[in-house]
Amino acid sequence: MYKFQNLDRNIDRDYLKNINPSDKIERNKALSKNIKEIRQLNKSGTCYYCGKPVTSYCKSHSIPRFCLENIEEKGMVTGINSIMGLPDMGVSIGKHTIGIGEAGTFSIICRECDQMLFREYENPANYLDEAIPTQKMMAQIAMKNYIKFIHKKEIEISMLERLMTQGSDFEISNLSDLYEVITKLQVYKTDLIAYQDSFEQAKRVLNTGKKGYYLFYYKLLEYVVPIAFQAPIALSIDLGDGVINDVFNKDLNYKITDIHICVFPLLSKTAVMLFVEEGDKRYRKFRKQFKKLDEEAKLGVINYIVFLYGEDYYMAKNVRDMIDTEELRDVVNTIPILWNDSPSIETGILTEKYSLGKWNSIPNLLSEQYKLR
Ligand SMILES: [Zn+2]
Repeated sequence: MYKFQNLDRNIDRDYLKNINPSDKIERNKALSKNIKEIRQLNKSGTCYYCGKPVTSYCKSHSIPRFCLENIEEKGMVTGINSIMGLPDMGVSIGKHTIGIGEAGTFSIICRECDQMLFREYENPANYLDEAIPTQKMMAQIAMKNYIKFIHKKEIEISMLERLMTQGSDFEISNLSDLYEVITKLQVYKTDLIAYQDSFEQAKRVLNTGKKGYYLFYYKLLEYVVPIAFQAPIALSIDLGDGVINDVFNKDLNYKITDIHICVFPLLSKTAVMLFVEEGDKRYRKFRKQFKKLDEEAKLGVINYIVFLYGEDYYMAKNVRDMIDTEELRDVVNTIPILWNDSPSIETGILTEKYSLGKWNSIPNLLSEQYKLR
């Protein structure tokens, strides 16, 4: 759920814009150290799923490793920072090329759970010609998405709480900053509850075998695309510029809901899927609009959503130079809207920034034009 993009990216971008170059590396290192320390603090020493004590956590991949292996070059892939135009910092959050062993990993569950929980969907044999992703596979995808996001959100909350205490590397110097931090904290905590609900839903489906997801798009492309992606995304604006998730809603009971998007490069094909939680009416209009598009536009819209909202995507190394356009950089750098005091312009801003109408303005990595093979 990318209601507000993650904190490290915000801090990253703001600081990089406003401070002189020699300070940048120091800032980045400090941030990286901060995140590392908080990750340690947030580990209870037990597996998030089964609760058993863990001596060393498993390094889980948010995107299945076999998908990264299908787009890597000499064991490396490239990520969001290479498009954002930030300098290569050499530290984890600023790297341009990343080894596939490190790409999109998180460590919060034990090895047994990692091997057991995601087995079906992480098996390339389940993406053969006639097969359609099962409820179990979708539940496994959702389960992993939310385990990762819950962990991430807990880290972000800890970082904000740390900001408000002494000894932080980032100081709050005035009241409006403090107000922003408090607002963010409130929002993050609401997000966390929504993630936990969705995690429980995935667990129910896995435990009972009941239907819990609605797969509204699945396509096995006859070629291998140069990008891999898996994440839940909270779409703000639909294809007719109508609001899907109202991020300005101040009601704490208002739940932001997600669409799960997967782009899985296989050996000679690519699996692309979109699904939502069963019974989620928020996306009904979007689904209808999407259904009416032709195949090329469908892929173009998915591609656009990934770059507009996503962060955890990985690409083949050689593709970066081919797609490095001003338009793409603008889309990737879209600054998240946090809160606004003037309700009358809120929807306008949202529509302008998150309209999907411009999907055709950036390179479509899901089209055959950019295929790896
Ligand atoms: Zn476990």
